[in-house]
Amino acid sequence: MESLRVLELYSGIGGMHYALKESGIPAQVVAAIDINTTANQIYRHNFPDTSLWNKTIEGITLDDFNKLPFDMILMSPPCQPFTRIGLQGDIADPRTKSFLYILHLLPRLSRLPRFILLENVKGFESSTARDRLVKTLQECGYTFQEIMVSPTSVGIPNSRLRYFLTAKLSTEKESSQSSKVLDAFPHPAESGSPERRTVSSPLCPATCQPEEDMRRGRVLYKQETETDAERKMSQNGDLSVRQIHDFLEPLMEVNTEHYLLPPKTLLRYALLLDIVQPTCRRSVCFTKGYGRYVEGTGSVLQCCMETEMENVFRGLDQLSEDEKLQQLMKLKLRYFTPREVANLLGFPQSFSFPEQITTKQQYRVLGNSLNVVVVARLLQLLVS
Ligand code: SAH
Repeated sequence: MESLRVLELYSGIGGMHYALKESGIPAQVVAAIDINTTANQIYRHNFPDTSLWNKTIEGITLDDFNKLPFDMILMSPPCQPFTRIGLQGDIADPRTKSFLYILHLLPRLSRLPRFILLENVKGFESSTARDRLVKTLQECGYTFQEIMVSPTSVGIPNSRLRYFLTAKLSTEKESSQSSKVLDAFPHPAESGSPERRTVSSPLCPATCQPEEDMRRGRVLYKQETETDAERKMSQNGDLSVRQIHDFLEPLMEVNTEHYLLPPKTLLRYALLLDIVQPTCRRSVCFTKGYGRYVEGTGSVLQCCMETEMENVFRGLDQLSEDEKLQQLMKLKLRYFTPREVANLLGFPQSFSFPEQITTKQQYRVLGNSLNVVVVARLLQLLVS
């Protein structure tokens, strides 16, 4: 197969570029484009030979694009206009302007790329931006597939449910209408994902009685209900997913003191933390606020296994501040290091940060990035 010429839009720290390498598809990135100077420093550090344009996409002319030319577009447009937490400004949000510009350019390119892959958040599937994308693709003669996947489906213990659209320029008269948004890879057996095995019985909420619902909804400890606890247990029992342990840095290499949760955070936010142990097969999505904000930004790691979490949290509210802190400190809770977050995102060991990039900046750009292994699998399915 001839080497594909790839255009990487909204390139960030190069998650798409790594996915392309991981996929094994013969290809070269002919241009990567992003306006974030921190992300660009990191991209350049890791891909010094790739042409990186520090420009806004909407400032690049049709002529410039035609001069490249390219066979594939990889892109992760800004997701804030489509997140549930955001205002869902969709196409009215100024951050969607560059994406609409791409849709305007596509039919005007002197040669249409054979493949397109787009990544975005859950929420994009019901946006007007998505409808416009699909309409443009159909008019240009593409077949496409939409899918929602999380890294757990490739055996990685991290939730990061994302929307993906893959499109192929149709050569013959293929139907360009895709039926529905898939929620799993189309050919699990062929794509090599291990068979799903569980050691504990999966949840079956449909059979619950009202009293059962009440029981399940009652807080056990740490604001956690029985349903939450069972969900976590079921996730931890899924043997097709690896353990967190496999993604941690060797103990000697982690400056644990640097990553321990400070007392103020423990006292104020203990009940909101998502705590995992190295033997767990789950963790929640790491966002760009990880390390700065606590609620919903990513899991923290329990380093002391001798202490039972349940023992620490039961009756915690009856203790004085000092006693509370003493109890919580027993767990030795720490943040995952940026390297560990990168591992959970599927970045290879060769990926690194330039020295001047702070830990906070590292979390920020990683939170904006994507799961490399998931995208690699999608690329293989697209190009095969
Ligand atoms: N896939 C990337 C992250 C994408 S996040 C990765 O692996 O890191 C979206 C990126 O789009 C951000 O880095 C942001 O700086 C960039 N961006 C947003 N609007 C842009 C525009 N108008 N032109 C170029 N880049 C833009």
